[in-house]
Amino acid sequence: MFMLYFTPVSDVNSTIFVLKQTNHDGSRQGVIHTRRGDVMTPTFMPDGTRGVIKSLEAHQVAATGIQVVLANTYHLHLQPGEQVIKKLGGVHGFGKWQGPILTDSGGFQVFSLSKLRKITEEGVIFKHPVTGEMRLITPESSIQIQLTLGSDMIVAFDHLTGLDEESRKDTLVAFERTHRWLDRCITEFKRLTSDIEPSKRPILFGVVQGGLDLELRKKSLEFIQNSDVGGIAIGGLSVGESKQEMYKVLEFLAPLYDDTGRPRFLLGVGDPPDLRYAIEHGIDMLDCVLPTRNARHATVWIEGDKKIHLTNAQFIEDPSPIDDTCDCHTCKSGYSKGFLRHQFKVGEPLAGSLASIHNLRYLQRICESYRA
Ligand SMILES: [Zn+2]
Repeated sequence: MFMLYFTPVSDVNSTIFVLKQTNHDGSRQGVIHTRRGDVMTPTFMPDGTRGVIKSLEAHQVAATGIQVVLANTYHLHLQPGEQVIKKLGGVHGFGKWQGPILTDSGGFQVFSLSKLRKITEEGVIFKHPVTGEMRLITPESSIQIQLTLGSDMIVAFDHLTGLDEESRKDTLVAFERTHRWLDRCITEFKRLTSDIEPSKRPILFGVVQGGLDLELRKKSLEFIQNSDVGGIAIGGLSVGESKQEMYKVLEFLAPLYDDTGRPRFLLGVGDPPDLRYAIEHGIDMLDCVLPTRNARHATVWIEGDKKIHLTNAQFIEDPSPIDDTCDCHTCKSGYSKGFLRHQFKVGEPLAGSLASIHNLRYLQRICESYRA
């Protein structure tokens, strides 16, 4: 027990992420060793908000080449609750996805969805959106919930702020609190996992904050990299700032990452040009609701990162698939744009599922192009 607490960071991490190659464009090819198998990077992870990728079964998600799915701690904690999910086989048995699962900390939803909330040093008190009762999420309870869910990769609870003018005043406070909360997350994580063999433990990610302030970002990255975490997460981006502002932070951080065998995860980014930019600036993992949310609204990506809206009248009699160059189930099966347009128009859920399959495959193909 004592020895496990003092295992040097580099020894632990050497088993988590193995860098295979750094490409000329700045992207990296690597492998994350999780307790549920290897993940080839760079990789995109769709958001299974409530324990499922909306309208898709696990085998349909796997067929797109997706290797990891994300589940939302906040939503699953509120409904049906982590103890219920544990009884139903954990988050893997619950939704039947048998590959690695990453859970977020719940922080993003607490900050973005809860209208009534109060942030204290202890944690965040917020109103349950369904029952109306007041709940408290702390760094410790976030770790407890994620471990009870049975997640393979978990994220430390951080203090997120928006990037609009008003919220930017809180950047320094959030930055400092995020680091104090990380220490509490690490202590709780070790308390609950120290008797588990290292290769069977989930991977804990610390979150870099600092808003658009580059000096704070640098200090935050240094803090996280000096902490006993298995992965580095970049948080607080893609929350309302311009693309140029986000790119500036990613470009600034790229040469500052250390080389101690930890995967780098950019939270909440999934638009194809942003995905490419992040990957070419050293990011290994990304997640976003965008591909499936867009798909349910009939918006799909085609060659060249162009977006088309399948409900447009121009597709009424179009017999061609979404994209001739795509190898997804939807395109290969020959579902025409005319068929999909009609099904979207009449509200048939299958249309959203077929479009989701295409969009997930689109992002996965981008990731695969960097791994080739
Ligand atoms: Zn396709």
